[in-house]
Amino acid sequence: MQSKRARILVACNAQFQKVWQPSHRRGTTINNYDVIVIGAGHNGLVCACYLAKAGLKVRVLERRAVVGGAAVTEEFHPGFRNSVAAYTVSLLQARVIKELRLAEHGLRIVERPFGNFLPLNERDSLKIGGDLSATQAEVAKFSKRDAQQLPAYYAMVEQVATVLRDLVLRSPPNVGGGVGDIWSALQLMSEVRQLDMEGRRNLLNLFTKSAGDLLDHWFESDGIKACFGFDAVVGNYASPYHPGTAYVLLHHNFGEVNGKRGVWGHAIGGMGAISNAMASEARHLGVEISCNAEVSKLEVTNGRMSTVVLQDGTELHARSIAANVNPKLLYQRLIDQRHLSEEFITRMQAYKCGSASFRMNVALSELPKFTCLPTAGPHHAAGIILAPSLKYMERAYADAREHGIAQQPIVEMMISSTLDDTLAPAGRHVASLFCQHFDPNIDWSMRKAEAIARIFDVIESHAPGFKASVIAHTALSPADLECEFGLIGGDIFHGALTLDQLYAARPLLGYANYRGPIKGLYLCGSGAHPGGGVTGAPGYNCAREVLRDRRMRMK
Ligand SMILES: Cc1cc2nc3c(=O)[nH]c(=O)nc-3n(C[C@H](O)[C@H](O)[C@H](O)COP(=O)(O)OP(=O)(O)OC[C@H]3O[C@@H](n4cnc5c(N)ncnc54)[C@H](O)[C@@H]3O)c2cc1C
Repeated sequence: MQSKRARILVACNAQFQKVWQPSHRRGTTINNYDVIVIGAGHNGLVCACYLAKAGLKVRVLERRAVVGGAAVTEEFHPGFRNSVAAYTVSLLQARVIKELRLAEHGLRIVERPFGNFLPLNERDSLKIGGDLSATQAEVAKFSKRDAQQLPAYYAMVEQVATVLRDLVLRSPPNVGGGVGDIWSALQLMSEVRQLDMEGRRNLLNLFTKSAGDLLDHWFESDGIKACFGFDAVVGNYASPYHPGTAYVLLHHNFGEVNGKRGVWGHAIGGMGAISNAMASEARHLGVEISCNAEVSKLEVTNGRMSTVVLQDGTELHARSIAANVNPKLLYQRLIDQRHLSEEFITRMQAYKCGSASFRMNVALSELPKFTCLPTAGPHHAAGIILAPSLKYMERAYADAREHGIAQQPIVEMMISSTLDDTLAPAGRHVASLFCQHFDPNIDWSMRKAEAIARIFDVIESHAPGFKASVIAHTALSPADLECEFGLIGGDIFHGALTLDQLYAARPLLGYANYRGPIKGLYLCGSGAHPGGGVTGAPGYNCAREVLRDRRMRMK
């Protein structure tokens, strides 16, 4: 018998088939590309650009009507546009921005006035990020010791983030690989060797410990721990006290905005501005991008990729195929299982996918008035975290496990129109609500209204009048994220960022070099190293590997 979840997915696929008709002639065979990229998520676009820059003929096939995957801007209510999934930028690699000339294609990224604003209760709040002494003064309201600890904590995270940064645009060593992989392993060892003993301890802690244990060691007041701990549960269906969550915290710290490390910002025009700039460069380089072109299966001949079949029956051939999709989607839905070994199938089944994220976009008639700070100010342009302690986050997780939905969800609100007047009519606003924890495995057709009510209740409790200010809203449950964007289990990272699925083990040990068990088939999406986030890194690294197999170099 089909599970409830499977039935929802079948319905979701049927919906796609009805709505999105490929735009080219049906049943034809097309033969003249060097590389086909499946998916025009930002990583698929980055991969396509670097392949085309090196001189290859590239075609990108995208199921949706627009490019960008989870990095996309859409009008969700007449006159109101927003980044409908990913909403804030930091991890996008400076090298990709420069080499793909994204600024020349119109991309402009602005900083938030400071990182985060946390309303803690009716009286108290915290403003974190930006100027260090201002942040210390904020934290000192609750603990002088915590304020003194801050510079050392930032330095500790930065030291380990620097190691991670150096690995982001390199292929991990592949277990069982050749000389190149031994070289990569040696490079990793040399990065680690540059750390002193304290640095190595910090690296070990950040890769293995829980964020909760780490933060309890550094700080004593709830607010500052909640601010940093939030990064550990974003897209991660876990309590902040689960071992391994400190890595997810670290993962959100290897980025930069306009050269400033560890900072998060906003792309003017929303995240779609990033993808659109990439698509412009791709077209300029001769890449052919087709939207409304859903790939329905991949055919394999003698252990080698041979044909990409679109939903309308069109067949396309290329020597190399780079898949931007989630690895489970690729290996469980697009490829006939008889082409894969039992062992590979079993390991792919065990690949963990599933975020507990619920994403809303709201159109607002006015800015929320927080009881603890009701006047309009720069705090409205920060990432507003509504989750005052790690304990609150732990409870949200426990609730989701027990009831499917956190009774008091963790909410981050980013009012993007405060930084960008292109998104809403004058005097009105749009906000992204990124909310955790919502079990990806429940029947979401029955529970969306309840989730929305819980989220709105949390905001209303900090900012009375919020509900009355909502002009319109849209909501994406974990099942909707899967249905709309192909994010299996609503996993925002294309697979959990746990130690057993990172670096040389991403997506699976033995397949970390962007190649899978089928010759000619590569993975260029977030299921490959270094994982999720709008980074461009898996796309960049995959292009290098495709070129290496053709004895070509990146340009
Ligand atoms: C709700 C949410 C909030 C997030 N917030 C942030 C954030 O603020 N900042 C940040 O850095 N990251 C954020 N992330 C994570 C980040 O957006 C993703 O990790 C990243 O965008 C993934 O990019 P990708 O190119 O690897 O894959 P995707 O963006 O998933 O692209 C894959 C593409 O493949 C297409 N596709 C799927 N199946 C087929 C098929 N059969 N045929 C053809 N095409 C197909 C899809 O339509 C999609 O366009 C968020 C993600 C989500 C979902």
